[in-house]
Amino acid sequence: MSAAASQRSGFDLAVVGAGVAGLAAALGIAQLGLKVALIGPDARAFAPTEAAPFDARIYALAPAAIGLLERLKAWPQMTAARVQSVARMRVFGDAGNELSFDAYQAALERLAAIVEEGELARVLATACGYTPGITRLRASFARLQRGVDGARIELDDATAVDARLIIGADGARSALRAAAGINADETPYGQTALVANFTCARPHQGVAFQWFCDEGVIALLPLPGDFISLVWSAPQALATELQALDPAAFAHRVTERTQSVLGDLQLRGDVHAFPLRVIRVDRLVDDRIALIGDAAHVVHPLAGQGLNLGLGDVSELLRVLGSREEYRDPGDLVLLRRYARARAESIDLMRFTTDRLARLFGADNAFARTLRNAGLSLVDRITPLKNALIRHAATR
Ligand SMILES: Cc1cc2nc3c(=O)[nH]c(=O)nc-3n(C[C@H](O)[C@H](O)[C@H](O)COP(=O)(O)OP(=O)(O)OC[C@H]3O[C@@H](n4cnc5c(N)ncnc54)[C@H](O)[C@@H]3O)c2cc1C
Repeated sequence: MSAAASQRSGFDLAVVGAGVAGLAAALGIAQLGLKVALIGPDARAFAPTEAAPFDARIYALAPAAIGLLERLKAWPQMTAARVQSVARMRVFGDAGNELSFDAYQAALERLAAIVEEGELARVLATACGYTPGITRLRASFARLQRGVDGARIELDDATAVDARLIIGADGARSALRAAAGINADETPYGQTALVANFTCARPHQGVAFQWFCDEGVIALLPLPGDFISLVWSAPQALATELQALDPAAFAHRVTERTQSVLGDLQLRGDVHAFPLRVIRVDRLVDDRIALIGDAAHVVHPLAGQGLNLGLGDVSELLRVLGSREEYRDPGDLVLLRRYARARAESIDLMRFTTDRLARLFGADNAFARTLRNAGLSLVDRITPLKNALIRHAATR
């Protein structure tokens, strides 16, 4: 391995990427008593005040992801006034039929909690700052070299970091993944998600709404107070048309398309656009490398599961590292394969389900329309199946 201007060694692990998945992984690894270097620019974090506008990046966290954040002792640090529980979810097909999920009926405290990315990043970054065993390096990953006992990564500030295992948490375009020679297959959906926050005239009562229709998939997620967050996954041509509307016209269009369930909507802040794609990697692990979060998988946001999957990776990685035999070093390929095997089913299932739904509801033909509406009505009528689906989604 070549010499670098400044060399940092003695780490058990290095986490590349300080987004939510990377921050959670570094925190959990340090809590296991391992030494970790957390590498990458700071994620967008903010200290909210009650009056501050809501972050445009909103996540619906499933109970399993909240469970991980509780085990990491991060969840209680979230500003309570910025977290909204989802008690009920109403899903509509384009024939007016409805499928509804209820936390109470499924014996769950809540279906999900709606949180802001900036607040989640703030809480995790603060916890990382206080936790012994974490060294924070704010440069970017540039190069990878691997030896028999470990790996060295070189950063763009000429620092080199030696560790026995490198975790790739550097997002969908992961440079670490590319440097490790792990292939990523990316397929665009020809859709763009428009994301924006609104105030609503009628109280949302903790209900999340979703419409599957020929204009794509539209979700309204409740935020604290009379705020809601929109995620409209629209076919490209429609997305372009919607983006050209002025704020009042856009709000009117969303109000109309969501059948005024929450009364008149007023746009608060900007409309953000995310081109949608699915990314499938050919393996989650390689010599001295493990991928987590969007570096490991990108799925369509219609089920709001991308970060939930990423936090599922973190949970499993911590379980594998925490239960390893004493003689194994954290980068042992046997351990990494345990991690990859344990995650394969959840990742494949989520990618398959979201991909099929995105295509079924993106298709504008009579057969697809009949099939999707029949599916919604059928599931809604079978209560045990519905409750089983909710509990399955909650624990993944
Ligand atoms: C419209 C939309 C709505 C969504 N809604 C939900 C939802 O409701 N629920 C849900 O669970 N998921 C949702 N998702 C998915 C979610 O946004 C992602 O899964 C999640 O943000 C991925 O987090 P991450 O930490 O893996 O990656 P990222 O957030 O992409 O973080 C990667 C980090 O790596 C850093 N980095 C990049 N390159 C380097 C480098 N060379 N060196 C060092 N660091 C580097 C970046 O600076 C960044 O901090 C949604 C996605 C979209 C598009």
